[in-house]
Amino acid sequence: MKFPLEWSQKVRELNTETSKTLVLLDAAAYVPTSKLSLAKKDASPDFVILSFYKIFGFPTGLGALIVKNELEPILKKGYFGGGTLKTVIHNVPWQTFPHELVVRYEDGTVNFQNIIALDYAFDSMERLFKGYKNISNHVQCLITYLSRSMASLRHWNGEPVVSVNSDRDFSDNKQQGGVLSFNITRSDDEAVGYLQVERLASMNGIHIRSGGLCNPGSISRWNDIDVEESIQNFVHGKVCGDENDIFNGKTYGAVRLSIGAMTTIDDILIWLDFFRKYYVEKKPLSKGKKFLIK
Ligand SMILES: *Cc1c(COP(=O)(O)O)cnc(C)c1O
Repeated sequence: MKFPLEWSQKVRELNTETSKTLVLLDAAAYVPTSKLSLAKKDASPDFVILSFYKIFGFPTGLGALIVKNELEPILKKGYFGGGTLKTVIHNVPWQTFPHELVVRYEDGTVNFQNIIALDYAFDSMERLFKGYKNISNHVQCLITYLSRSMASLRHWNGEPVVSVNSDRDFSDNKQQGGVLSFNITRSDDEAVGYLQVERLASMNGIHIRSGGLCNPGSISRWNDIDVEESIQNFVHGKVCGDENDIFNGKTYGAVRLSIGAMTTIDDILIWLDFFRKYYVEKKPLSKGKKFLIK
């Protein structure tokens, strides 16, 4: 879901003589499908973070923190690494940092190969897609088709295979980006753990992500897990990123498909073939058999 960008202006309106709130916008999931303008300085967030690689369709890589220069004095540095000091003394905890924000915060050797590649990547994007509008429309078409196809899948007994973790249809690109997350149930209503889906996809040459996806609110809401339960389960050993996709009968995450400018309709069709083959039960499974996998 895309939250309204006007919120940073609304937060600013709450400022008083004695209290000021600064806004950091995490635009990592926003910029792969939408243009973000910081032209109106006063209406813009004070800080923006984003990941370049998600725009270009890579699994990891370079990101950025954008800071209003006037906020430089409030940023106090604790940790330091190579190249970000003016002076340091070997036997006393004392050091001074340069004034320029960029010099002060780029600890260690910057990822210069990726930085050089950015120019070429943006040029290629421009050449291929000719602007964000086309990217946005492309992603909207693919995700609408994908989400509707997934939601319409039925087992032999008419029960749905997939529950999509969203309140809305995906056809409105003002409100939705290119990320679809969902859970899967078997025809006997038992949950399918997301880990086996990710692994089976991987064996079939499909790269997806699964798990809690660093989103505790989403885990809680879509899998009906309350605060008490979360804490109790932690006490009994449930932690983020472990192998317990299902714990005490409840699912602790989802399967997630991400679509971007570089995704093609063929990618979607390959996914749907894979998914139908392994997760849509065309007849009752024989006794004791858990999955369609041979
Ligand atoms: C991907 C993502 C992140 C993490 O970005 P990294 O570049 O991997 O550090 C943070 N927030 C959101 C909303 C994301 O989509």
